[in-house]
Amino acid sequence: MSEKIPSAIENKPPAPLFKEGEVFDAKKRLANLRKKYHGEEGLEHLEEFKEKLNFQELGFSSVEVKLFNLIEAKPEASLDDLNSLIESEVKKYALTKKQTEIIFSIFKGYQEKHQAIKEMTNQHLDEKGEVKGKELFKEFFNKEPRDEVKVLIRPMTINFCPKNLDDYVYLIDDAFLEGREAGDDDRALAKKYAGRRLEGSLLKGFNNLVTIENPFFFDKNIDELSAVLNHEEQHAFNSLKVDVHNVEIDKLLDKINNIEKETGAKIPEELKSFLIKNYQTELFIKDEISAYFKEGLSPKYISKVLLEKNTLYDYGFDYNKPAGGQENEFDEKYVQLVKNAIIAFFDLLKHGYSNEEVQNLLFHEPIGTWPRVTARISGRKKSPEDKKKDEEKYISKVIYHK
Ligand SMILES: [Zn+2]
Repeated sequence: MSEKIPSAIENKPPAPLFKEGEVFDAKKRLANLRKKYHGEEGLEHLEEFKEKLNFQELGFSSVEVKLFNLIEAKPEASLDDLNSLIESEVKKYALTKKQTEIIFSIFKGYQEKHQAIKEMTNQHLDEKGEVKGKELFKEFFNKEPRDEVKVLIRPMTINFCPKNLDDYVYLIDDAFLEGREAGDDDRALAKKYAGRRLEGSLLKGFNNLVTIENPFFFDKNIDELSAVLNHEEQHAFNSLKVDVHNVEIDKLLDKINNIEKETGAKIPEELKSFLIKNYQTELFIKDEISAYFKEGLSPKYISKVLLEKNTLYDYGFDYNKPAGGQENEFDEKYVQLVKNAIIAFFDLLKHGYSNEEVQNLLFHEPIGTWPRVTARISGRKKSPEDKKKDEEKYISKVIYHK
């Protein structure tokens, strides 16, 4: 079930493609190309443009990998640390001002979160400087835990692993947030989830910063992060990016604005919220695909988890449907979107890019464009037969169809 994905083969560093001091703004360059050249000559320039675009996108993703590694190795890192780490990269890949700003904004978002975690946990240390788990549990969830609680402080998350199942049950579906007793539904859910990230918090500034692990992990002495934490921390890193740059919603709003400006007509609010809901779902499922690949799971397994009939990710059932009263079945467009994205992600891994490189490369692109981006980066255009073969090979047979 959990056959591992291949680890990256070593990438040769590509030769620099940009001149000293050059800034490569892809959008502007493409618009200029289209204005200036036609026919054969245009195609030639387009090839050169694509080569530069690939080079820059991979460079941008490598800058994000460096940022991520910096946070991991030195949680207290400063803006200067980041700057000296990526300065030469910014030049090498001719990053635009906006791209550089995105990197720094992500880092600033991180710093705020890290600071909040530090200030809070510092108030609950014992003489040895270790976090008092039970006390911190009480602070966060306003309830005395029944037994021991292990707390793991990470750069951008706090993880609680209670020993007692009831303490976990109380957290799993926000009973603590609603101030209610946990019930059978919570208990059933707790058995299903190995862990999760809590969106809401009783404390100001701690939304999405707290993760919880099933008591199953309590006695496991592991040096490495558990798969659950790996998964949840990828979500945490992704959410820093979305805070700065929500490609799905930004592109949609651009499109809506353009249509309204060009036609002078107003797009009905109902249609707008329908589109926004769809794009929101695309963002959620993209985030999930990313987190599952971070865990190191196979495309087959991921497609099953996301698309099986009893999926935990049942918001997908509402995709492409009008609001209210629908059956629990996926729209075929949604199934295709998810399948294609999983295969696209895996294609880049197979092509030799590291998990982190692919994470960063694809997350800044809307999920619907992943197959195109992957084809451009890998230089491999697939025939319809290739596509079918890949689906046979990499997509689970138990996914849910009408
Ligand atoms: Zn997840």
